[in-house]
Amino acid sequence: MKRDLAALADGGVDLVVVGGGIYGATAAWDAAQRGLAVGLVEREDFGAGASWNSLKTIHGGMRYLQKAAFGRLRESAREQRTFLAIAPALVRPLRFVVPAYGHGLTGREALAIALRLNNWLTRGLDEGLPEGSRIPPGRTVSAAEARELVPGLEPRRLGGAAVWSDAQAASSERLTLAFVLAAAAAGARVANHAEVIETLRSRGRVVGVLVRDRLLGSAVEVRARLVLNAAGPEADDVLARAGLRRKAAPLLRARNLVLDRPPSLPHAVGAKSRGRFLFVVPWDGRTLVGTDYEPAEAAPTDPRSFLAEADRAFPWAGLGDSTVTLVHEGLVPGQGGAAGLATRPRLIDHEAVDGLPGLVSLQGVKYTTARAVAERAIDLALRRLGRPFVTGRTAVTPLPQARPLEGDLEARTRTAVQQEMALTLSDAVLRRLDLGTAGPPAPRDLDVVCRTLAGELGWDADRERRERAALAGVYPRL
Ligand SMILES: Cc1cc2nc3c(=O)[nH]c(=O)nc-3n(C[C@H](O)[C@H](O)[C@H](O)COP(=O)(O)OP(=O)(O)OC[C@H]3O[C@@H](n4cnc5c(N)ncnc54)[C@H](O)[C@@H]3O)c2cc1C
Repeated sequence: MKRDLAALADGGVDLVVVGGGIYGATAAWDAAQRGLAVGLVEREDFGAGASWNSLKTIHGGMRYLQKAAFGRLRESAREQRTFLAIAPALVRPLRFVVPAYGHGLTGREALAIALRLNNWLTRGLDEGLPEGSRIPPGRTVSAAEARELVPGLEPRRLGGAAVWSDAQAASSERLTLAFVLAAAAAGARVANHAEVIETLRSRGRVVGVLVRDRLLGSAVEVRARLVLNAAGPEADDVLARAGLRRKAAPLLRARNLVLDRPPSLPHAVGAKSRGRFLFVVPWDGRTLVGTDYEPAEAAPTDPRSFLAEADRAFPWAGLGDSTVTLVHEGLVPGQGGAAGLATRPRLIDHEAVDGLPGLVSLQGVKYTTARAVAERAIDLALRRLGRPFVTGRTAVTPLPQARPLEGDLEARTRTAVQQEMALTLSDAVLRRLDLGTAGPPAPRDLDVVCRTLAGELGWDADRERRERAALAGVYPRL
């Protein structure tokens, strides 16, 4: 995968995708696979936005039961199985346990009904998956079994627990990158550190984008018959640059904490706190706690107050004395708090809605369902481009690069630069090598990566200093 903005500008493309998060990446892969000439431009690095902050859960959609949104539940569960099938080295089932207290909506009887309904709605979806990738049916267990699964649970009013499986992405960064790599292998021209600063208009339609190369400072015009705005939380900014000034969709700041402690249990455990569910999740030898939501426009609260809340919600886990090694924080559509999280993706055909041909927007609400929503966006793109319909195949095509890199650290770093477009220290450490996604990398590893990048990319000492400072800024000083 080579970054060549001049080649991207040369001759134009059918479709240019703005934003290389999971939505843009899956859309580019789908479009390239269906024979379109595709460009993908990402302002920072692929997967550096909301997509890298995920709690890493590939949801089966149980949450949609509460709202009786069975179609969405089925879609989520289907996409979960799709990830398990196309990226088996990165996506594995993970057991979840939620203790049931009392007899209300979160009591054992109600949870048993919910799980039975969920089992029925998702029946048959595991067909064709290998044994270790299947999602076993959910069930409830007795109070005694619940205390075996989660030692130290408060026994008063404990009626049992709900036990089900979801899936977890070991690295959402490499998973997003795998879609970009697949798109590039299918002919898409892709570039990171390339920001859309304007949309090009001609005779009342959008005909491409003006892209600033953030590494060189220069700008190129990329002509495209259709622009797909997949800029995630910045989607409304891209629309404003296209002259569409509409009331911006409200956003929530979502946050997870990565703690320095090894997980105390091999499964995730949920608990209700302040009206929403929190989860403590084992991941990469660490403990994740999430997800907290607050309005994006409010001043961010201190992550330590969230840690204190998690400590109260999971008193058996002794989280209070942990060190927060990283805060995963990103913006997602929604308002108020967790209850106001948007549940429907937005796929907007601006020709139909605003009378502006040449522009489509795609903004999703979950990492899990990105592939399916992107498929609908490309169905629409084919129609708008007047191309014959071709069925999308991303659901059934394995992603060969959805796995960790192999070799010693120096070799992996060289691969990251030469084949995966790592251009900064953060690109390499956070999104190619999985060295710093749970906390600061070991100094010796960092030296190896820095030395290799400096050799590959011709950095001088000053550049190396700036790169190290930029990476250090990612980690909290609490
Ligand atoms: C803390 C947290 C936890 C979450 N946990 C989960 C979870 O467990 N499971 C789940 O399914 N979902 C989860 N989500 C939701 C999920 O992460 C998002 O729905 C998803 O990542 C959104 O992807 P996206 O591609 O739309 O946005 P992004 O990943 O933000 O991608 C948009 C990209 O567009 C780029 N961009 C913006 N403007 C421009 C421009 N002008 N030019 C070029 N590029 C531009 C940005 O740099 C960015 O990389 C979580 C989200 C957060 C924040």
